[in-house]
Amino acid sequence: MIQEVDSPPYIIDINNLKRFDERKTVFGRMLHDEKAEYYRTGMYDEIEKVLSGNQKGYSRIEFAKVMGAWAVYDYFHKAFSWEKLNDANSIMNKPTLGKYPISDRAFMNKKIKGIAKKYGASLVGVTKINHSWIYSKDINGKTIEIPEEFRFAIVMAIRMDPTAINTSPTFTACAETAIAYSRIAFCIGCTAEFIRSLGYKAIPMGNDTALSIPLAIDAGLGELGRNGLLITPKYGPCVRLCKIFTDMSLTTDKPIVFGVNKYCKKCKKCAEACRANAIQVKEEPSFDIACPSNNPGIFRWTVNQNKCYKFWIENGGECSNCIAACPYFPINKRIKDTDEQ
Ligand code: SF4
Ligand code: SF4
Repeated sequence: MIQEVDSPPYIIDINNLKRFDERKTVFGRMLHDEKAEYYRTGMYDEIEKVLSGNQKGYSRIEFAKVMGAWAVYDYFHKAFSWEKLNDANSIMNKPTLGKYPISDRAFMNKKIKGIAKKYGASLVGVTKINHSWIYSKDINGKTIEIPEEFRFAIVMAIRMDPTAINTSPTFTACAETAIAYSRIAFCIGCTAEFIRSLGYKAIPMGNDTALSIPLAIDAGLGELGRNGLLITPKYGPCVRLCKIFTDMSLTTDKPIVFGVNKYCKKCKKCAEACRANAIQVKEEPSFDIACPSNNPGIFRWTVNQNKCYKFWIENGGECSNCIAACPYFPINKRIKDTDEQ
């Protein structure tokens, strides 16, 4: 049963929680941290070795599908612009109109959700921005400052095709992840421009600028699982997340609980499916951290991102085993419901 709650279902140690530096994420450490075992080792650096293994699901064609799928997220940078879009090559001038008056914030909450869904979001929630979740520095070390007028975060989940993710860790699953990211770029780029066209400001984000999972929990999209991912009631962990900060006036949504924390204590299926042994098996969560890429001060099962990323390099692409193994994953859901009867 899904229940709305007044405060987000996580425990924070306010003395230890600090804004996280994006350079400490595995991709940040790969770029900047000489002490990281995978310093300057990209996820595709071993690809020729992986392809030469001739394993099912790891063909040259399937790898090309992965590369194609990343194209929009990785190269269409204007989708992530903090400013109203403009381009000398655009044939039609786009008018700049005055501010659209908002007298009914609840109506705007509903409207923005409908628009984001039209542009491809599967789930949408709105929350006030908790500044603890904004990165202190971006992946290149630049200080991140979000002006005070940005008060709300529109948080979106893009569903992935469970049949493709179920083939994890093959390239078919990697391509599905990349497709979701490119759909993120389309969704946030269009939704941000919709907001700007009404005379308000918008900062669209993928994984950059702020931590997506706690914002998604705050916005009522789901709960945190043992696998370190957002678990949603409808799609389980089979989603990718993105968000837009805005100064538009909106009502907010309440966080939700539906028993994930209790279920995770006993389940551990994600940990069993992880070939890198990166997911904790102890019954209770804690404040312990497993590697420098974990943000201290959050009570949870931390995932050892070092081990995880090293497996991705070995695999020649991302892994989704901890998504596909989860009883909340749409293909497995019936098994979970039977478990609970
Ligand atoms: S993505 Fe794969 S390697 Fe990483 S934690 Fe999940 S199952 Fe383990
Ligand atoms: S597989 Fe089980 S333990 Fe892991 S996140 Fe899903 S429900 Fe929780």
